[in-house]
Amino acid sequence: MTFKALLIEKAETGQTVNLVDFDEKDLMDGDVTVRISHSTVNYKDGLALTGKAPVVRRWPMIPGIDFAGTVESSTNPEFKPGDAVILNGWGTGETHLGAYAQKSRVKSDWLVPMPAGLTPARAMAIGTAGYTAMLCVLALERHGLTPAHGPVLVTGAAGGVGSVAIALLARTGWHVIASTGRPEEADYLKGLGAAEIIDRAELSAPGRPLAKERWAAAVDSVGSTTLANVLSMTKYGGAVAACGLAQGMDLPASVAPFILRNVALLGVDSVMCPKPRRLEAWARLARDLDSATLDALTTTIGMDALPQTAADILAGKVRGRMVVEIPA
Ligand code: NDP
Repeated sequence: MTFKALLIEKAETGQTVNLVDFDEKDLMDGDVTVRISHSTVNYKDGLALTGKAPVVRRWPMIPGIDFAGTVESSTNPEFKPGDAVILNGWGTGETHLGAYAQKSRVKSDWLVPMPAGLTPARAMAIGTAGYTAMLCVLALERHGLTPAHGPVLVTGAAGGVGSVAIALLARTGWHVIASTGRPEEADYLKGLGAAEIIDRAELSAPGRPLAKERWAAAVDSVGSTTLANVLSMTKYGGAVAACGLAQGMDLPASVAPFILRNVALLGVDSVMCPKPRRLEAWARLARDLDSATLDALTTTIGMDALPQTAADILAGKVRGRMVVEIPA
């Protein structure tokens, strides 16, 4: 029994990526086999598909870090054939055969049941980027921050994490300031709920340890000098949820915002996030994200468009979220 899969293999000069007929017996261990209907292109998928960073740590690899689909078979009574499920992370597409395929075999602990109100296509329009945006919002809320404390900044605004973060925060009453390098996307960002747009150049160059207080909270998917400046401009008692590195992995910051303004830096990881928090995040996404807004930030592609889309997302050219339809 074979199924269609995109396979990355090591070659003398880097790596090759080909659509192949993959033998089901070569799937990895797991107690649930899922028929995948949708996946997505996240920034990390761009790194894996292009080989620009060592995301893939097992060869050969089926890339793709998230999927939605239907359980085909299960030896765990928690899941039965026909159940709709979502998977984000846990090393899928990195150390475990991933999502750009018609099938995947995984551990049942990794799966989240499809929340009522979401379809597989909409779940993947959210995808790992959107679920991470929700984890960032939950982190700010756990810190006690509300729209009454002041504006919230979203960096990398026109990207996947940024777009969903804006929609979620605006919907819950926050005054959202969107930082983008694409001023031509101002109407798009306002459509998602951004109240103000700023040029990311204001934040991307080295700045002062403490600067004028501008926002009470922030969701940052950019890292590096941008995150340092975001911290230096956060109001007394505020917090920044940091999840990304689109500008860089470094953090050339000072402790001044922490020790003089009581600012908190909240780290957010989606890959190994414990299941109870995943369930909370997906329930909130199903409840809080307006489906028309979600559709407005989504583009759907086929598997043939994956290599180009991978290059585009690393070049910062992808707007919002990219859903990949996996043929039945
Ligand atoms: P996208 O490429 O969709 O979005 C990133 C955005 O960042 C771009 O659209 C762009 O926004 C901005 N950006 C790109 N390059 C630069 C730069 N050099 N300087 C400043 N801004 C830049 O990616 P995703 O939304 O999928 O992911 C965003 C980040 O979050 C990635 O680093 C990713 O690895 C990370 N991530 C982390 C997760 C976790 O578990 N911690 C999970 C998911 C994502 P604009 O054009 O508006 O300026």
